Amino acid sequence: MAGGLLDREGKAYTGVRPLLIQGAMKVETSHMVEQIDALEEYRLGEWYFAAGSYHGVPLAVSRTQWGLANAAATTALAMEFFRPVAVINQGTAGAHDPALKNFDIVVGRETVNISAWKSHFRASGMGVDETALDKLGVFAYDKDEHRFTQEVYHKADEGLFQAAIARKDFYTKGRVTEGVVGTADSWNCQVDRVLFLHDFYGTAVEEMEGDAVAQICQTYDVPFLTIRVVSNTVFAGDVDWDLAVGAALQEYVLAVAEAYMKKR
Ligand code: SAH
Repeated sequence: MAGGLLDREGKAYTGVRPLLIQGAMKVETSHMVEQIDALEEYRLGEWYFAAGSYHGVPLAVSRTQWGLANAAATTALAMEFFRPVAVINQGTAGAHDPALKNFDIVVGRETVNISAWKSHFRASGMGVDETALDKLGVFAYDKDEHRFTQEVYHKADEGLFQAAIARKDFYTKGRVTEGVVGTADSWNCQVDRVLFLHDFYGTAVEEMEGDAVAQICQTYDVPFLTIRVVSNTVFAGDVDWDLAVGAALQEYVLAVAEAYMKKR
């Protein structure tokens, strides 16, 4: 049941343990919030949360805001407030794989923090080489080792991942693929840099939240998956991102969430 934490207005969550779905912005969450029955809204700090039911399954939605710090903070708060049974982080992303087009979806088999690296030593005057790196990884609690361990990649929960793959045919606006999702507080617009990251980390797309959420989910031992829709690709040239992809993704994510919760 509820975690006992009160929101800013003194309101507690009294529902059953929901599936938590996160999105950074309004365009990445409002389409889901509109479809939730018996909607209750909450504020934890300045962050927006909502909960209710969707086709009979308990759902919570979190608007995380952009970036790793916001994603991690809102995930930890939601863990204490809702005690979610699982977390799906979703939203827009930029392609690292040249084969991906806007509206294609990547179900995150793994996430990786693409700003967690150590560069090789260079003395003064030797210039900057952004490719001479070793992967570092980030720390999350390992329940078997009873300590925080440093890992480069965080694997998606198998049950959530299979639930998403099983609903592939639901989505008709693009392809549903699987791949590695890269996270950093950066937006890469140089084709060669993107190709380097694609090769070095094996990433299909980049965004700003997924791996930070994966870390917190591992620490709380709660199943995690990220699902991302391509809203921009440097392989199409210097073009703006397409925000229309947000609603399309949310429809698919709701279908995945319903299937997962009804199978549990
Ligand atoms: N273009 C904006 C930055 C927005 S980042 C600006 O210039 O101010 C907003 C969200 O988009 C983040 O939550 C991130 O997860 C997602 N995102 C979409 N495409 C991305 C990309 N190519 N790189 C990084 N984040 C991306």
